[in-house]
Amino acid sequence: MEKLLISACLLGQNCRYDGGNTYLQSIEKLKAKYELFPVCPERQGGLSIPRRPSERRGEKVFMNNGEDVTNAFSVGAVIALNIAQKNHITKALLKEKSPSCGSKQIYDGTFSRTLIPGLGVTAELLKKNGIQVYNENEIEELL
Ligand code: SF4
Repeated sequence: MEKLLISACLLGQNCRYDGGNTYLQSIEKLKAKYELFPVCPERQGGLSIPRRPSERRGEKVFMNNGEDVTNAFSVGAVIALNIAQKNHITKALLKEKSPSCGSKQIYDGTFSRTLIPGLGVTAELLKKNGIQVYNENEIEELL
């Protein structure tokens, strides 16, 4: 069985900033082909649930009250990478638009719901280390 790193919120874990999840029924199909390794970089980086929403501004990440949470996001990204490398995982399915997990689009740092092309901190680190990153609209490509 192949191995797949996956955003824990897509699996139904209530780890989003608002205490909810983004469970997708189509995830179930993946279970026949992959052993799933859930990660939530923000939780694993030490942030609480619930927490204020955060957005990237360049290399830094801020909460909507201006708190610099770059370090927590970086720690969470390294933990996700370590899990992938330790388990020889080469593919990840990550939640789009998240400042950690987004792989094509993220919010622009102004907290005005404005999307820009870009990557979350974890998606960026995984890609730099040769891991293929997919989002929830690309599940069919993984099947
Ligand atoms: Fe989901 Fe990733 Fe956000 Fe955690 S950091 S809640 S896994 S999108």
